[in-house]
Amino acid sequence: MAKTKRGRVLWNIPSRGRGTCPVCSSTRIKLLYSQTKTDGTSLKVCKKCSKAVQTRVDRATV
Ligand SMILES: [Zn+2]
Repeated sequence: MAKTKRGRVLWNIPSRGRGTCPVCSSTRIKLLYSQTKTDGTSLKVCKKCSKAVQTRVDRATV
């Protein structure tokens, strides 16, 4: 499987895969993981928050 979370592939993603994590508000962090809120909204979150509990994800604002 190709690496999609490191290296040159990131350069093809808008803003190179970086942004502010909606869950932990870290800035300029790589947002490479998807989390889905209970209401069905999907968010891009950082690596730390890919393992966050659902209640933290639901509280996040985009
Ligand atoms: Zn985060």
